[in-house]
Amino acid sequence: MYRAKAYSAASATSPLAATTIARRDLGEQDVQIEILFCGICHSDLHTVRNEWSSMMPAVYPCVPGHEIVGRVTEVGSAVTKFKPGDLAAVGCMVDSDGTCPECQAGLEQFCPNMTLTYNSPDVHLGGITYGGYSESIVVKEHFVLRVPSNLDLAGAASLLCAGITTYSPMRHWGVTKGKKVGVVGLGGLGHMAVKFAHALGAHVVVFTTSPNKKEDAILLGADEVVISRNADEMKKHAGSFDFILDAVSADHDINAYIQLLRRDGNITLVGAPPKPLAVSALALLFRRRSLSGSLIGAIAETQEMLDFCGRHNITADVEIIPVQKVNEAYERLLKSDVKYRFSIDMASLKSI
Ligand SMILES: [Zn+2]
Ligand SMILES: [Zn+2]
Repeated sequence: MYRAKAYSAASATSPLAATTIARRDLGEQDVQIEILFCGICHSDLHTVRNEWSSMMPAVYPCVPGHEIVGRVTEVGSAVTKFKPGDLAAVGCMVDSDGTCPECQAGLEQFCPNMTLTYNSPDVHLGGITYGGYSESIVVKEHFVLRVPSNLDLAGAASLLCAGITTYSPMRHWGVTKGKKVGVVGLGGLGHMAVKFAHALGAHVVVFTTSPNKKEDAILLGADEVVISRNADEMKKHAGSFDFILDAVSADHDINAYIQLLRRDGNITLVGAPPKPLAVSALALLFRRRSLSGSLIGAIAETQEMLDFCGRHNITADVEIIPVQKVNEAYERLLKSDVKYRFSIDMASLKSI
């Protein structure tokens, strides 16, 4: 065990502050990574403030962060994919049981015994796992991803959650050239969805409540922008979409979007509104439409996504901040005052 500098919250109401945490010594299958950038995900804020206490109560001190990019510093004797000096990334999971049907199917994100990167029981050191707001992390090789060397690292960090969360359902539902794809909500997730749908060759329509986002949506790769409050504009698209990704995490009228799907069209939720959504069964019955959810992505698919990003030079649009500004960033996140993701430059932790 060794000590690593980190930023943690001591309780649901305390700001994050500098601390040191225990990291395990390198095991045979482990990769040790010096963290260069860590993206800020809305889940970090929910967990730190214990807003998901009914499902996943936070344990303190809490070190969030699951959008991790860094450089390998050391590898265990059984590690084959990485060597010191390589770029590496870690997303939302750091372990799973490897034996259940989900793991056997290569879908680790649905393993009932999956270990999350932070706030999950830590089988190695006891207590809970600590995330990427830290100078280093030790992770089992299977859960470490390779990062294409052409990608901007600050922007690549956010691919590990925002990226895979939007890429995975698009691949699952067959987004490709010739398909009409909608993206609801242009935030951290939504802006990645637009980039992926565009790169996959689809006709991309962004739905937004704010007319001032129109120009940005086009720059990100949208072919059309629809102001969702304008019923006439919405009606023009009725029954025409193959797939809609709904990235809104506040209460909203999902039926307005279901009506836009064609036969066998699908709308997938990746946001998590706190209250249940009211869904019209009739809207689904007609045209055999379906409503789904999706959770991050498997390890192999995450690697596929990173390689796709390498080929298409896709990263998240980020605002780089020093770790000392993380509390301020959380407040701005609540106001959606960021285009489109914060990425913490972990070099800033060295001066603490
Ligand atoms: Zn996340
Ligand atoms: Zn499993």
